[in-house]
Amino acid sequence: MITAVMPTYARYDVTLERGEGVYAFGTDGRRYLDFGAGIAVSVLGHCHPHLVAALKAQAETLWHVSNLYNIPGQEHLAERLVANTFADAVFFNNSGNEAVELGFKMIRKYQYENGNPERYRIISVSGAFHGRSLAGISSGKQEKHTKGFGPLTDGFDQVAFGNLNEMKAAITPETAGIVIEPIQGEGGIRPVDDAYLKGIRAICDEFGLLLQFDEVQTGVGRTGKLYAYEWSGVAPDILSSAKGLGGGFPVGATMAIEKVAQAMGPGSHGSTYGGNPLAMACANAVLDVVLGDGFLDHVNDMASRLGNGLEGLVDKYPSVLNETRGKGLLLGLQCKGDGSEAGTLVAKAMAGGLLAVPAGDNVIRMVPPLIIEAEHVDEALGILDGGLAEMAAEVGQEAS
Ligand SMILES: *Cc1c(COP(=O)(O)O)cnc(C)c1O
Repeated sequence: MITAVMPTYARYDVTLERGEGVYAFGTDGRRYLDFGAGIAVSVLGHCHPHLVAALKAQAETLWHVSNLYNIPGQEHLAERLVANTFADAVFFNNSGNEAVELGFKMIRKYQYENGNPERYRIISVSGAFHGRSLAGISSGKQEKHTKGFGPLTDGFDQVAFGNLNEMKAAITPETAGIVIEPIQGEGGIRPVDDAYLKGIRAICDEFGLLLQFDEVQTGVGRTGKLYAYEWSGVAPDILSSAKGLGGGFPVGATMAIEKVAQAMGPGSHGSTYGGNPLAMACANAVLDVVLGDGFLDHVNDMASRLGNGLEGLVDKYPSVLNETRGKGLLLGLQCKGDGSEAGTLVAKAMAGGLLAVPAGDNVIRMVPPLIIEAEHVDEALGILDGGLAEMAAEVGQEAS
């Protein structure tokens, strides 16, 4: 018989019932060091006092009003995002997928409003993940997400990750824009090098295309900058943000430069919940902390400690590990083997009291709360070391 909750997820047999800082506590009585953070969401850890206070205060004042009325929290959050990014205007939604899909709509609408209605196609790169709506899976084009859901939405092309010539060759008179993650998250923590991003920016400028960055996973301090594009010096025309933005409260944002935002007049898009007072209170509280003095310096300090530690594990266990990947506190270890090894390491880490998340390309992903301290990094490295020692022993046994 089917479970009442639809069986779309392959869940671990763990129930987390309470969280405190970087730790989550299970109904099994165990304490887990949470380096999954709800998949790069809980940037301030669990039950951060500033977030709790902001949410409680808003809950006692006003939960929800329609976008038929002014929402001061939206104005405040939008002004802060505009002041701290390339963007001139922001639309608030409820999830990463919505934040990305609105970007797709804006690319089309901009071209339409600017005399190019024939331009509607958007190019993505292989290994991309842009969410699970029809347009999301149609742009990501990963078979594990699209199988059985055809026909896919028209208007999405894909080229090989990292190949600028192929990107240029794929452009037709119908191409409207390009979408890319500055670091592929689900795809296996694959960083996009700066030269490639600069090349894509140049192609967009040459052909009159819009450039959209999907920073749903890389944003809100995750890589040690507020948004990852800042490392490359390449600014997009549109940026999608979500995951960390509400620190655990569902909220997304689609940001754009003025000429793109201008195409989105009254009635062109909407969301019942998008940007409601509860979400805005949480996201503003997250920014209070993330934009605070020294916060991103701390992220970068912890990132180098964790990154160096992971490098050390790659050196220590060459039979199991291939390389480290990522930037800031979006880090991965790529395992050797047929593809199942990262899952094995995630399970061993969990058994040792560490939560991490598998990603594509046989990678185990570490996306801890940005508030971790040195002791948490060291604790995580110790647990991984234990799991890796077991895996190395197993590889050795098979070889002998
Ligand atoms: C998680 C993610 C999404 C989808 O976000 P949801 O909130 O699950 O809809 C889209 N793009 C990227 C890069 C992501 O990491």
